[in-house]
Order: sequence, then structure tokens, then C-alpha cells
Amino acid sequence: KYGIHWFRRDLRVAGNRALAKQCHECEGRVLGVFCFDKKFLDRDDFSINRFQFFLEAIVALKKELQTIGSDLLVLDIGPQHGFKELFKKLKAADISLPHQVSWNRDYEPFAVERDQGAEDLMKSYGVASFHERDHLLVEPHELEKDGGGGYQVFSPFARKWNQLVMDEEFNSRVEYYKKGLRYLDQLAAGKADKIFKLTWDKLWEGESGPEDVLNRYVESNSRKVSVTIPRSGSLAALEQLRSFRDRMDDYGEKRDIPSIQGTSRLSMYMKNGSITTPMVMAELGLEPFGKKETGSDMFLNELIWREFYYHILARHPRVENEPFLKQYKDLEWSNSKTWFDAWKEGKTGFPIVDAGMRELKQTGWMHNRVRMIVASFLTKDLLIDWRWGEQYFMETLLDGDLAPNNGGWQWAASTGCDPQPYFRIFNPWLQGKKFDPDGKYIKRYVGELEDLPAKKLHSPINDHKIYPKPIVDHKKQREIALDVYKRAR
Ligand code: FAD
Repeated sequence: KYGIHWFRRDLRVAGNRALAKQCHECEGRVLGVFCFDKKFLDRDDFSINRFQFFLEAIVALKKELQTIGSDLLVLDIGPQHGFKELFKKLKAADISLPHQVSWNRDYEPFAVERDQGAEDLMKSYGVASFHERDHLLVEPHELEKDGGGGYQVFSPFARKWNQLVMDEEFNSRVEYYKKGLRYLDQLAAGKADKIFKLTWDKLWEGESGPEDVLNRYVESNSRKVSVTIPRSGSLAALEQLRSFRDRMDDYGEKRDIPSIQGTSRLSMYMKNGSITTPMVMAELGLEPFGKKETGSDMFLNELIWREFYYHILARHPRVENEPFLKQYKDLEWSNSKTWFDAWKEGKTGFPIVDAGMRELKQTGWMHNRVRMIVASFLTKDLLIDWRWGEQYFMETLLDGDLAPNNGGWQWAASTGCDPQPYFRIFNPWLQGKKFDPDGKYIKRYVGELEDLPAKKLHSPINDHKIYPKPIVDHKKQREIALDVYKRAR
């Protein structure tokens, strides 16, 4: 009797509920499978950089599994065909099919459909399957309004989330992950118990093993990468998390200043499931129902925003392609290709916007405050469809993640759930002055402004030999945007 765990975006062994359950039920005889899904690789918003970070997380995962006595089979084929091929091969080698196949839940519309297909496939082979909660602490079906249905506004959602997490059962979920963190520590120290006892080689005894597709992907992809890829995998995530622990008290004060590292930089690890919200809560000792006064309360609040956007996507999959607020369906975007290119290249003549867009291009990351500024600028100043910006972010961000990205864009465009009101339009000059008063951030990414005194960075710059003239007049565009939004309503 042995089991297979199908890894997707839960790329870790510690604190992995479905894997742990399998390990227990199959007495350690569990193997991992990962399938490269062409549908995912062919998406319009595919990012070479994010893919490399993801690949390196899979490499790290394989190593972790091998360290503790198991292994990961990487198939160069989507799960439907992948599992069929695998089962065929097992039968041909006279090896029984697995007792059960497990995975952890994913809420993206594409994933929900894929997983339903996988469940049906397993049934057709008479193989049991089960799935578990993973990267959310509270799942969409667990959090409802008193009268039923999901929340569309963040504050009551967060209140309910906190209430639930105070409850003993939910609290014990966080406790569970403390064990996972201890195991991660043992892994880091090279002292983890070998709790697994099956490798693919043994399964293929006497047969040639599957070819190693993973290295092939890593090698060919790494040639196209254009940013420095941070260390990936769960051990790197744990280090990142611990480096934030000492800074968390200052989170409230520093999180909005893009020139310093005031935030955790955990998002890219959370995207891949190298670490999860409950693990972060367990490690940092985050308590529900804080008054949002301390750094830890404010930090937890951001994690709840993440869960909020996942719940929205799970309950309203249509937001992937259309505004949550239907009245904005036919908003008259100007969609100027020239302005869009200037925005992407960081050449709009608005220093804070350009710094953000160049940070994104050069590093694959952008500070949250600046994400809000550039998104507001694209949608309200340039009147370009938020979906263009959303897609460009997905193509470039190392942490690009459908639910929070879509949520962030729809928030900025005032078309989403609990959006900023359409008449609140960020003034990019004032935003720059407030959050980067000394211009440190701007100068880091917009090198040609290095010699300019800080006070000149927050109004149009006249020396167009070194830096472009603003492509629009903010005041005028603001009026036009207000009109366009009013008309749509
Ligand atoms: P921290 O401030 O340390 O926050 C901790 C964690 O909380 C983050 O890692 C993240 O998981 C979550 N979080 C923080 N802020 C938000 C938020 N506003 N909404 C949802 N979750 C949040 N986040 C992504 O993970 N992927 C995206 O593709 C993404 N796209 C965005 C697009 C726009 C237009 C905007 C305005 C925001 C977007 N965000 C996205 C949310 C946020 O900007 C990032 O999560 C954050 O900047 C990541 O940095 P951090 O880990 O240092 O955050």
C-alpha cells in the first residue's frame, strides 16, 4: 500500500496537511508527483521570471523529499494525461496503482476545474483521492454572513475572520503548524527524521526511471530570465520570515515607505506555498482581534486582505475577467497604446510612477504603496483598462498571484469589492512627496534624476533633456476620469 501526493502550489513538506495525512495512512510509503501543465505555461500572462522562481522551489522541494526518504516525479505533461501515463506505466511494470492520491486545495477558477477533472479521473481508475485545506487559514466555504452568502466588504469580513480564528478549532489549526515549523528547522539543520520510505527508483526497479525533466526546464528557462531570482523554497521562506520578526514592531510605521525594507517580502513564497498564512501566524505569534495599533496587528490585517481576495475569487470567479461592480462593465477607457508603453517603461514624467515601474522591471517586485500609485495612475490618469495593468503585473511580478493581483487592480480602478470610491483619485505628485519625501526611492530607480534636489522631484521637471515631460496633466485627467466614471454609473 502506497500513496501519491500531487504537488501544485504547496511546494513544501513541512506543515503540508494532505502529505502528512498520506504519510500517516500509508506508513511513510508516499511519493510526490508534479505535472507541468501546458495550459499554465501557455497563459498570456505567463512570466519567465516567476516561472524560474517556481522551478527553483520545485528543485528545493525535490531535495527536501529526498532528504527525508521520499522523492518527486516531475512529469512534462498536464495532470489528466500525466496520471493516465503514469498509471499505464505502473501497470506495465506490474506495480499496483496507488492506494490513494492526495492534493491541497486551490481556489483559482482554472484550478477548481482541473481538480474536478482529476477527481473524476481517479474514480475511473478506482483510486481513492482526497484534498485538504492548505494556504488559507479560513476557507471560502467556512466564512459566511450570518444570513448566508459571502462578504463583499473587507471590514465585516475581517471581523468575522477574527471571530472564527478565536474559536478553539481554528486556533488549533495554527498550533498544528508549529509542528511544521519545528520540522522545517530540523530540515534546515539536516536533522529531519526520515519519515518516508519509498522512492521512485524502487517503484521502477528493473525498468529505466523517468527522465529528469526538471533540470531541463531549469536550464532552458534560466537563460531567458531578466532579473535576479531570490533564493526559493521553504527554507528560504523561513529565513525571510525570521528576518522580518525583528522588524515587525515597526511595520505600522515603515510599511508605506518604499525606500526601506519595511515589509516582510513574503508574498512570493506564499504564492508557491513555500510557506502559508497559518505558518506565518504560528511563527510570529500573531493573535486575532488586535486593535490594529501594533505592527503585528497591522501585519495580520494584510494577511486577512489576502484571504479576503481569495474568498472573493472563489465565490465570484467571474472577477477574473470582468469588474466586480457590473455598472463599470462598459466604462469608456481611452486605452492609448503610447501611454501604456510609457507607463510600462517608466517614462511617464511622473517620478514616483516611473520609479515603481522601473523597480518592477529591474527586480520583479514593487512596493505595495507604489503598486497602488501606479495602478491608480494607469486607470484614473491614463484611463487605461485595469486588465491591461493586471496582465502586465502578472507578466513581471515574482509574486504575481491572481486573487490579490486582481483584487488590488480592481480596488485601484474602483471596480471591485470594497474598492476605493471612484472619486478618490491619487495625486501622484502628493503621493511621491508624502511617501518618498527625500526622493531616495525615486533616485534609486530613476538614475537620471540623481542630482536633482528632492523638492524638485514632486512637481513637473523642466529639464526634458534628462527626463520626459509629464505625458498628461494630472488635474485635467482627474476631471475626465470623474466624468467617465459618472457616465458609467
Ligand atoms: P507585507 O506588507 O509584508 O504583507 C504580508 C503579506 O500580506 C503579503 O506577503 C501578502 O501575502 C499579504 N498582503 C499584503 N498586502 C496585501 C494586499 N493589499 N492585498 C492582498 N494581500 C496582501 N500581492 C500578491 O501577493 N500578488 C500580486 O500579484 C499582487 N498584486 C497587486 C497589485 C496591485 C495593483 C496592488 C495594489 C496590490 C497587489 N498585491 C499583490 C498586494 C501587495 O502589494 C503585496 O502582497 C505586497 O506588496 C507584498 O509584499 P510583502 O510580502 O512585503 O507584503
